[in-house]
Amino acid sequence: MSIRLPRGTQDILPGQVEKWQLIEEKARELCANFQYSEIRTPIFEHTELFLRSVGDTTDIVQKEMYEFKDRGDRSLTLRPEGTAAVVRSFVEHKMYGDANQPVKLYYMGPMFRYERPQAGRYRQFVQFGVEAIGSADPAIDAEVIALAMSLYGSLGLKKLKLIINSLGDKESRNAHRQALVDHFKPRIGEFCSDCQNRLEKNPMRILDCKQDHDHELMKNAPSILDYLNTNSKIYFNKVQQYLTNLNIPFEVDSNLVRGLDYYNHTAFEIMSDAEGFGAITTLCGGGRYNGLTEEIGGPEAPGIGFAMSIERFIAALDAENIELPIKNEIDCYLVSLGEEAKDYTVGLLHKLRLAGFSAERDYLDRKIKAQFKAADRSNAKYVAVLGEDELKANKINLKSMATGEQMEIELETFIDKLAELI
Ligand code: ATP
Ligand code: MG
Repeated sequence: MSIRLPRGTQDILPGQVEKWQLIEEKARELCANFQYSEIRTPIFEHTELFLRSVGDTTDIVQKEMYEFKDRGDRSLTLRPEGTAAVVRSFVEHKMYGDANQPVKLYYMGPMFRYERPQAGRYRQFVQFGVEAIGSADPAIDAEVIALAMSLYGSLGLKKLKLIINSLGDKESRNAHRQALVDHFKPRIGEFCSDCQNRLEKNPMRILDCKQDHDHELMKNAPSILDYLNTNSKIYFNKVQQYLTNLNIPFEVDSNLVRGLDYYNHTAFEIMSDAEGFGAITTLCGGGRYNGLTEEIGGPEAPGIGFAMSIERFIAALDAENIELPIKNEIDCYLVSLGEEAKDYTVGLLHKLRLAGFSAERDYLDRKIKAQFKAADRSNAKYVAVLGEDELKANKINLKSMATGEQMEIELETFIDKLAELI
């Protein structure tokens, strides 16, 4: 039996990987414009980090972590998400002391969750995410949301829906929490065992239950928006005002609660409502997490961020039938005829490449016709033909594949000539 890849993972092959590269490139470009710097943290962290930050009542911690003991008997976990590590690093490197605040960071890399694999849900997936830590200005909430929307927009996605909610500050959440307990307690027996556990520990998570989603008590559950205190209301209004200023349409959904326990104030999701996208429509999720730095042992530093997976980004592009502008052509293919000419192309090819051209030659000792076919397959803009006669005369024949035009060029000036043409 041959060995196959683990369930929930995928190989990204040439032909597909160019899409990934383009998205990654766009993300980096946009982050530079928005002034977010890249941070790279380890693939595994102490398990304790995720227990404290993601929260031990969440699906991630309870069911999805790749947790293992290393040979030194430490409990480590493959990172299931990026925020915890970024905030840990922020605290560990005392970035709260930097002159520039807020500290604006982005990351891109694989995350690991033991999930039931299906379309858009993998066990290893790549997230791009940003975190802005050190400001409680609602303008930064709008900025973070705008960055995510701009990235999707820059690659042509149109069928996007932005949903926002406010989870309020601690006071508002506590008032809401009590209302939720009073609401669900009398009939909690009708809910799944997860929800029964959540009732006392974190009743807000009941609203996020995928199993009991359609229970009648869900529909008339107390809305957080009715429990926001004045400050939380002002904050939420400001975020909405800024989004409107930025011409970013949104809907408020008071049932939106999000993965981390420590979310407060702004929570948001970006969905695709393209037809045929399938069951999973959430492309991106994010929110504010004031209080998380303290939980990880640092000083107070309010933060906000989002994460999106590249897998679902690509699925959304496919659902909207968007062809990415991917270049799959090369500048020049060297065709040679005869032993000496063939030898000569080894050095010439290398020179071309060092001069900045994408170039290729034959390595299978193919006949001239087959070499031309290979040049066609690699979408060469120019094909340069070197035969024994040309070599003797110190010339090379260059053909433009776009126009069919041919010219004879001195070998010494070949690279300069190509530079002029391309
Ligand atoms: P879901 O409700 O779909 O499980 P989530 O709340 O677990 O999402 P987050 O932890 O907020 O997701 O992660 C942010 C984003 O990362 C999601 O919106 C989605 O784009 C992506 N994502 C999360 N889990 C996976 C996965 N298993 N495979 C691919 N992408 C994922
Ligand atoms: Mg999930």
